[in-house]
Amino acid sequence: MTKGKLPLLKKMIYFDNAATTPLAPEVISVMHQVMTEIPGNPSSTHALGRKARVLIEDARLTVAGILKVSPAEIFFTSSGTEALNTVLFSAVLDSRIKNIISSRLEHHAVLHTLEIIDKRGWANVHFVNTDAAGHVSLIHLEELLSENEKSMVCLMLANNEIGNLLPYKEVAELCHKNDALFLTDAVQAVGKMKLNLANSGIHFAACSGHKFHGPKGIGILYINKDVTISPLIYGGGQEREMRSGTENIYGIAGIAKAMEVSYASFDEKTAHLRALKNRMIEALKLNFSGAIFNGDCESNGLINLLSVSLPTKSRSEMLLQRLDMDGVAVSGGSACSSGALGTSHVMDALGKNHELPVIRISFSRYNTFEEVDQFIEVLKKAYK
Ligand code: PLP
Repeated sequence: MTKGKLPLLKKMIYFDNAATTPLAPEVISVMHQVMTEIPGNPSSTHALGRKARVLIEDARLTVAGILKVSPAEIFFTSSGTEALNTVLFSAVLDSRIKNIISSRLEHHAVLHTLEIIDKRGWANVHFVNTDAAGHVSLIHLEELLSENEKSMVCLMLANNEIGNLLPYKEVAELCHKNDALFLTDAVQAVGKMKLNLANSGIHFAACSGHKFHGPKGIGILYINKDVTISPLIYGGGQEREMRSGTENIYGIAGIAKAMEVSYASFDEKTAHLRALKNRMIEALKLNFSGAIFNGDCESNGLINLLSVSLPTKSRSEMLLQRLDMDGVAVSGGSACSSGALGTSHVMDALGKNHELPVIRISFSRYNTFEEVDQFIEVLKKAYK
């Protein structure tokens, strides 16, 4: 287990790891080595190019080994967003998919893409019912699947705001029974759940390096060997024609190292995350009576994430600002790309009325118990 804080975070309490994570030292070291020692283009046939090519294929092997799939099923992209866009757009533009079944709790990387698909009439978009705790109705999903041919189901493995986990085996079973394809957004799940994609019944999965102490701007798309899709980006034919553009070799080396480190001593790392979360739950209950945990996060859900509505008249922005001034970074449950806080579509889908401020607390293996205790003191002060 990594003990203590990263040097660059010494002065901050960083509890916003669902937004992004700091680079692991091992990742920085590998990326630095690639930057200084491997200048070649992986498509070049000379020695320097071949060195870069070997690096990419080694990274692919590492990632495939951890996700329990074949290296031929792994493609590097620029982000989780690109991986999701690739599958959604390709599926409908190929005319193979006429219906997409998703949920209102998905990330904007899915929801805004579905808006375009719907507006342009490229496919029908359906939303499966979810309850007040954010659970997907499997009965409704089955109904939608039986009513709509040529379907793709797009449901996230772990929710980024409330941490709910998808019963993906049941979803996969329904998809297979109804001849539908299954795409999952695994961006928040990697590093926090053991994943065995080969036996999952999932056809496509999207991952993102910066959520598990890898670099920003690099993602992974898993495409099961039994299905094919067209690329989203055309050009030099890199990534076996699936994703053109000269490969981001620093990012690729970084994401593979980040995954390797995240899954080394995995049980120990996840036990630490669970213990941090439990300590925070107990302390919040003790100090803020009337605190409400959103979704499934109190008892189940992602082991590193808590979404809590606090019983105060303070506005969410005010509370976050005060915490920020005191050196604590958390999220308000929803942040737009502009940095401005908007109301959360996930809270809307849960039927929350936005009266109580929501704080999303998300841990990493670099967080400590002392930080949890300090956070509670800072929150008590900000709360007054
Ligand atoms: N999906 C989820 C659940 C996320 O939390 C994020 C990032 O916040 C994304 C997709 C997008 O990933 P990326 O930042 O790599 O584009």
